[in-house]
Amino acid sequence: MGQSLKFRSEYLFMFGLEGKTALVTGASRGIGRAIALELAKNGCNVVINYLKNEEKAREVEKEIKKYGKAMIIKADVSRQEDVEIMRKEVIKNFRGVDILVNNAGIHQHLKSWELSIEDWERIINVNLTGTFLCCSAFIPFMKKKRYGRIINISSVVAHTGTDHECHYASSKAGIIGLTKSLALELAPYNITVNAIAPGFIETDMLKFESEKERKRVEKKILLGRIGKPEEIAYATCFLASNMADYITGETLNVNGGLYIH
Ligand code: NAD
Repeated sequence: MGQSLKFRSEYLFMFGLEGKTALVTGASRGIGRAIALELAKNGCNVVINYLKNEEKAREVEKEIKKYGKAMIIKADVSRQEDVEIMRKEVIKNFRGVDILVNNAGIHQHLKSWELSIEDWERIINVNLTGTFLCCSAFIPFMKKKRYGRIINISSVVAHTGTDHECHYASSKAGIIGLTKSLALELAPYNITVNAIAPGFIETDMLKFESEKERKRVEKKILLGRIGKPEEIAYATCFLASNMADYITGETLNVNGGLYIH
């Protein structure tokens, strides 16, 4: 017991996240939920943004309160008015954000010739514009503090493309361009901006038509399996931590060897 406590405090110290405030968008389930929990386990106070399922967001909040402070806030990241309300609430309750994780995202399986302009705009608005709006909301605070860690969740398809959702791949590739540009602008303020490009991760977003299809995909992954949400959360904690102080403008590929650059 004594030894595990000692290990835990050393572990917390190692990452340097204790007392930091993190905002994770789309954190009521899936990868966002895992990121919110892992940041909390590492000492962060966490703001859990959600869009639809308040009950699930409350469950995450309850879980996080075992480790530190938590707050849930409903906001559609693609709507500037919502993001502004979220910004004000976060500033009121936590006086700002040290770590921003832009995780909220949606996708839609359609061929390019099946897409309406509304489909295209919906995906771009949530995934790319939503990421930009949340960055814009919290960058002024980070600049003033001369500290910030922004982590944007992209996707392996930003690099590979995909034959069934070009709008999603475009939004995720856009996130990488946004990440690099913000990294250039914000380095003088000690704000790092990085992206994570997950491969196939076991969440509600991931659906296979059949067991045969799942097996076919698993065969393409060098490590032979679908990833776990926690594996994206560990990468996020690393990029948020003081161990990654010298990393900015990068995309960390967490895909089990599905795609090697
Ligand atoms: P998910 O569908 O379980 O979670 C997405 C979350 O985003 C949900 O909680 C949803 O309510 C929220 N959200 C959607 N639109 C929103 C909006 N307008 N405002 C606020 N919140 C909104 O999927 P996930 O797999 O956990 O995906 C998380 C992120 O990881 C997404 O950006 C996704 O594109 C990315 N990603 C996932 C995979 C995968 O295989 N699961 C692979 C690569 C990238």
